[in-house]
Amino acid sequence: MSRARVCLTVDFDGVSSWIHSFDEADSPTNLSRGLFGVDVGAPRLLDLFDEHGVETTWFVPGHTIDSFPEAVDEVWTAGHDIQHHGWSHTRPGTYPDAAAERDDIERGIESIESLTGRAPSGYRSPSWDFSANTLSLLEEFDFEWDSSQMGREFRPYRLRTGWQAPADAPYDRGSETDLVEVPVSWQRDDFPAFAFNRERGYANETEIFETWESQFEWMYRNVDDGVYVLTMHPQIMGYGHRLERLNALVESMAAHSDVEFTTVDDVATTG
Ligand SMILES: [Zn+2]
Repeated sequence: MSRARVCLTVDFDGVSSWIHSFDEADSPTNLSRGLFGVDVGAPRLLDLFDEHGVETTWFVPGHTIDSFPEAVDEVWTAGHDIQHHGWSHTRPGTYPDAAAERDDIERGIESIESLTGRAPSGYRSPSWDFSANTLSLLEEFDFEWDSSQMGREFRPYRLRTGWQAPADAPYDRGSETDLVEVPVSWQRDDFPAFAFNRERGYANETEIFETWESQFEWMYRNVDDGVYVLTMHPQIMGYGHRLERLNALVESMAAHSDVEFTTVDDVATTG
């Protein structure tokens, strides 16, 4: 096993997040942000990954696969892994019932199967949260791992079922399942860091890339077999000035001895 593993992950939402998570289906400008990711951001990211010879993991909603099949096929034929991110990019907690969530997960599986010829083994929740039914649905559809939760910083662990969080009694952790969690962090996600909103204004981009690098440095020094997961979106990371910084970050991590860039599936199945 390497001293450290890096999972570069790409949530290829296309326009699905604007339609299904942000309720912006009638906003051509917000939809165009997603189209930028499809037409410009994704090809640029593929070029950068190709230059470094790294295999990455793309979480792709079925809506993106069915809307932009050629763009997603570029990802698949370039040798990157494609895993499940819902069909519609609906936040799991907002489904009216388990049946509606099951239908969306099943439809997302069918989209991935039509592209790749195989079922997905991993899931990343749109919005990084589960409903009360998500875990059992993942088990029902034979998923092996998830990458949406935050119970560890740089190590995989097992998701637990049957937990209880009553307001008037102690928390009950429940029991371990076979599902492996490869944890994410809001501290290593480009969307909250860089997506412009009128309340916050511009992010200090230099500072954020420095933070990402210092998180890797800390993990490399302090965590045995650490796994560093960075989450990107083509519509956010695909801008030229950010790609230059991303390139520098990847170079900096790769300059350390015994660092492996690999897929989330590889981490989940090898521990
Ligand atoms: Zn997403």
